[in-house]
Amino acid sequence: EEGKLYLGMDFGTSGARYALIDKNGSIQAEGKREYPLYMVILGHYCTTSSSVLKSEESVDWVKSWRTTLFALLEDIPVSLRAAVASISVDGTSATTLIVDSTTGEPLCRPFLYNESCPEALPVVKSIAPVNHTVCSGSSTLCKLVYWWNTFNSAKQSAILLHQADWLLWLLHGKLGVSDYNNALKVGYDPETESYPPWLLAQPYSCVLPTVQSPGSTIGFVKEIIRTHLGFPEDCVICTGTTDSIAAFIAARASRPGQAVTSLGSTLAIKLSSTQRVEDARFGVYSHRLDDKWLVGGASNTGGAVLRRIFTDEQLQKLSEQINSAEASLLDYYPLQDIGERFPVADPNMEPRLHPRPASDVEYLHGILESIARIEAKGYSLLEELGATPVEEVFTSGGGSKNEKWIAIRERVLGLPVRRALQTEAAYGAALLAMKGADISLNTDELVRFGECVNNF
Ligand code: ADP
Repeated sequence: EEGKLYLGMDFGTSGARYALIDKNGSIQAEGKREYPLYMVILGHYCTTSSSVLKSEESVDWVKSWRTTLFALLEDIPVSLRAAVASISVDGTSATTLIVDSTTGEPLCRPFLYNESCPEALPVVKSIAPVNHTVCSGSSTLCKLVYWWNTFNSAKQSAILLHQADWLLWLLHGKLGVSDYNNALKVGYDPETESYPPWLLAQPYSCVLPTVQSPGSTIGFVKEIIRTHLGFPEDCVICTGTTDSIAAFIAARASRPGQAVTSLGSTLAIKLSSTQRVEDARFGVYSHRLDDKWLVGGASNTGGAVLRRIFTDEQLQKLSEQINSAEASLLDYYPLQDIGERFPVADPNMEPRLHPRPASDVEYLHGILESIARIEAKGYSLLEELGATPVEEVFTSGGGSKNEKWIAIRERVLGLPVRRALQTEAAYGAALLAMKGADISLNTDELVRFGECVNNF
């Protein structure tokens, strides 16, 4: 263990980061890269009639991610590389690739996390249970069904991978492995650890990947990569997770009752719970993390509304003047647009930011207090739905810098609220890599997989 390092890489929406940590969780090196935007003419790459594609030219994400992966690996200081015991990667949820099962080459362009395949939704709704997480146009399953019904080529020799699975495959070479966090939106049931019968009954179930728990060993790093970059012979590649779960893992709030509130443009809460909780009305669902559940909900309130009214400097100056010990009686519901999902399911809810008092300090106090009440209501709702009651809140995002807001939130929630020490998803992925390396390795059981030189 001594001197070993664990590498996590995060592939987010605009760029990728890496974090290299030691066994105490201290960061030994970190870095980031924006995605280079290679263009590809879609007509040559694959043909599709999807309504989401407006132009002929599109970003070549496959090339962009692959280049970024190896650029990040090259960014790791040479002197530290020989100590890298394990590597894990997180990617954006529901970003999907369909690849050839022998070469690993994508059979069409990737489907991005936020892309919707509305054509496939009625089909998915007709086979999945009511309100299942796959019943959304951007779910991985809708993307798969869309592909299956649109493209005629190579259906029998195709494999579905999520972005993180595919990036990890470039490193280990064993095709068709995923983790149960990424696989949730394709319909995998992490509780029974299997694909449900209604999914296995479909012809396209043959393209589904096998699923392991996040942060479990897949195999050794490919030799060509190891020797080129200077990683040790026993460096292992471990399954990853999604970007938002990696960010939760980074905050190390894993005990049931511990939670993370992310206060960025919007407000998202995630609570570690012994009970699995799902309620489609509120968009509440649970991811599995080993023997616990990660219950989440996301409100449309948050920092984006603040930014419309105040600059970040004003926010800071005005906040300093707030008396956080005193409750504000102003009752707002700050929203950017009409409609809320959690903790109130009302698509017609109007933003409420009036009356505006003469004092900006009072106005801001009222808004911060109102958002804190929405946060508190979110945690109460999760408890009502059956989750472990929240005991302690860690917080991340732009809003977590505001000490006065933290004090207001502690009073309104009646709980300790602390800034999370680590909030980067790459750090969470590094913790998963550490977990994967820590299981006592029976190296005889780990096979070295075929080298695909053309992919490096
Ligand atoms: P994103 O979700 O876009 O990644 P960030 O985590 O970067 O968001 O947070 C940005 C948000 O933080 C902005 O919407 C801004 O209003 C809010 N913010 C920035 N500074 C403060 C502050 N001092 N107090 C409260 N909110 C703040």
